[in-house]
Amino acid sequence: MVNLFFKTYGCQANVADSQSLENYLISLGNVQVVENENLADLILINTCAIRDKAEKKVSSYIGQLAELKKNKTYLNIGVIGCMASYLKKEILTRFDHVSFVFGAKDDLNILKDYLHDLVLKLETIKEIYAHEQVHEQVHEKDNKVKFELKRLKKIINSKNVINNKVKELSDLSLGGVKNKDKELKQSFINIMTGCNNYCSYCIVPFTRGREKSYPSNILLDRIKRDLDLGVKEITLLGQNVNSYKDPVTNNGFEWLMEQVANLTGEFWVRFVSAHPKDMTIDLLKVIADHQDKLCTFIHLPLQSGSNKILQSMNRTYTIEKYMEQIDWVKKILPQATITTDIIVGFPGETEQDYLMTRKIIEQVRYDLIYSFIYSPRKYTKAALMLDNCSNEEKNKRLQELQTRQMEICFENNLLTVGKTFKTLVEKRLANGKLLARTKGNLRVLCDSKDELVGTFVKLKIKSAGRANLIGSLIE
Ligand code: SF4
Repeated sequence: MVNLFFKTYGCQANVADSQSLENYLISLGNVQVVENENLADLILINTCAIRDKAEKKVSSYIGQLAELKKNKTYLNIGVIGCMASYLKKEILTRFDHVSFVFGAKDDLNILKDYLHDLVLKLETIKEIYAHEQVHEQVHEKDNKVKFELKRLKKIINSKNVINNKVKELSDLSLGGVKNKDKELKQSFINIMTGCNNYCSYCIVPFTRGREKSYPSNILLDRIKRDLDLGVKEITLLGQNVNSYKDPVTNNGFEWLMEQVANLTGEFWVRFVSAHPKDMTIDLLKVIADHQDKLCTFIHLPLQSGSNKILQSMNRTYTIEKYMEQIDWVKKILPQATITTDIIVGFPGETEQDYLMTRKIIEQVRYDLIYSFIYSPRKYTKAALMLDNCSNEEKNKRLQELQTRQMEICFENNLLTVGKTFKTLVEKRLANGKLLARTKGNLRVLCDSKDELVGTFVKLKIKSAGRANLIGSLIE
């Protein structure tokens, strides 16, 4: 058996990619997942390049693995994903112990074939090592075994950057089912890859390539298959899901959502991320018409409340258009949870621009925001822009924004007390509570039995905190 350890950084697209690759490797029959790097024969690191901080974290983690490689020379360490897309050479030069690098926009079929062979080789080499250890103990070294060992080591440790191209769409590109023992079965499906938007701060178009939608017949077959496996929650993923276009029929995202909602079974569907430039009222109407399946959870990235900054970010919408969309959501899906992404301290952001973002937070009253200080990324336009705001000021703005948002989260959560929600139970947490989520993705903790994991239950909210609601089961 080959022991696999998977480390994933970054967004849900990365989580989906890792899950599908992990599922593929397990399906080979001679791979098992281990919870600790020390036990691994193969370590795969799926990387994120969205912020400098994320890259530093990945680099520091890769650096720590050098010691492991010294003690287990046949250990293979593979770096995949966004950082691997544009820093292949740097990674291989800087980290001598990395065995191969494979970028997010490279063809997964190639990686799949490579890993298939690698796993076979690792299995053999592990046996040979075990064999050799026995021989050493009895001082009977077998020259033939040693020769074979040397040959295999050479193959496995050769730094292999895979760059052939295969046209066929791999099932791997579509993501995977998260199927952990005693946890809700969730399916993360990439409906598209890449992005054409070139927001001036974003590296994704460089790491994941041009936008490409996958054919709906393949997606729907895949979703049906996952539902047959017992999946209860499906998340459709893309950098910009609402620009999805079926490459054969040209049908858009609204149509796809409707097709998924029409599939039989009791399940929920979520999606991330939507781009305000492509958000349509029709999508919200489809969600409203299929609320039994389509979750009332809208993540609409704002990034900034200032039109000047939005323009400089190349976001191609105005704050007026954005707020009109928020009004649609509130009117058509009044019970929807609304979340967003915000960048603080973008080059040129003045105190006044920042205050405009603060104003939007008060107006929308988001249920959650993901907020970060702007991080310059190589190759992007924004990296060349004049940035004259001090780090101290940026930190102050972020702190202030997050503090206020936490208060809003709490105030929103208090409004749920006394209400009853249909929820889907996800897993038992370390604190002994069961974690369930509402359609709006609100976290509800409750006391009950393990058998409820993976089922839909009604929970009445008894109390609320900033991050969690506490509920009790309605029989
Ligand atoms: S929409 Fe903009 S922020 Fe999102 S992935 Fe594309 S370029 Fe990046």
